[in-house]
Amino acid sequence: MNLSHPSELKALLERHGFSFSKSLGQNFLIDEGVLSKILDAAALDDETCALEIGPGAGTLTRCLAANSKKTLAIEIDRALIPVLGESLAEFSNVNLIHADVMDVDLREVTKDAFGDSPFCVVANLPYYITTPIIMELLESRLPVTTMTVMVQKEVADRMVAAPGTKEYGALSVAVQYYTKPSLVCKAEPHCFMPQPKVASSVVKLEVLPQPAVEVEDEKLFFQIVKSAFGQRRKTLSNALSKSPYFSVGKERVMAALENMELPEGVRGERLSVEEFAELSNLLK
Ligand code: SAM
Repeated sequence: MNLSHPSELKALLERHGFSFSKSLGQNFLIDEGVLSKILDAAALDDETCALEIGPGAGTLTRCLAANSKKTLAIEIDRALIPVLGESLAEFSNVNLIHADVMDVDLREVTKDAFGDSPFCVVANLPYYITTPIIMELLESRLPVTTMTVMVQKEVADRMVAAPGTKEYGALSVAVQYYTKPSLVCKAEPHCFMPQPKVASSVVKLEVLPQPAVEVEDEKLFFQIVKSAFGQRRKTLSNALSKSPYFSVGKERVMAALENMELPEGVRGERLSVEEFAELSNLLK
């Protein structure tokens, strides 16, 4: 069975009377080249455990099962469970959970499947929940080693963006705080069935053993980042002194900026992750 061949995928789906749901972000991968780039980047071996969110018809899941010790797949759509029953029948190292990933206790289900072993995440994510899933996985500090994920191209560009670019924002800082992100490849709409309206990219996030910078108060750090980018057109001192998340006088912000030798009219988008950390430690 090769589900990256459109005719085989179609035949499998037809056998189960399946029809695609737009609202669940169902765009199934049908490009062998992209599939093998995902697998190369994920660098699995028979000691590795893999978590897949949204297995769809099982195209990627079959490759994960064949190349890993154990794979756990979480799929929300009940109509795909019999499809996956057929496509994964030959593998005894796959656990399939029928659930909404946002409602699942990921710590519990990954512990049940993998014990205390670290695991990697490999997925062609449903775009409507890409950022909440990735942030949940990072913030919960589960033993995730890497995430190799297909996301909307713009989201991937934001994850890897450098300070001062138009893509750089709160997501860039958060992802670069927890991980070392890199772009793996682009995937044009014709790589999927049905074709999405937007281009996609595969991004690999290597989770750092410790966050990239030392932050004394993580909550304040992220509140500062959110405030800085929530009001992009404002200077940083205005954005922070009017933050809805905390209260700090403009004078104190100005003093901190001076201490860091930053110009008083500086905007948040100019600050590196290190500078956001330094600023939040000064404002603590
Ligand atoms: N992995 C398959 C592939 O690459 O062909 C399918 C990828 S498709 C972009 C996204 C998949 O995520 C769909 O199977 C969809 O039903 C599933 N999905 C959407 N929302 C979900 C959720 N909240 N929890 C779990 N799965 C979800």
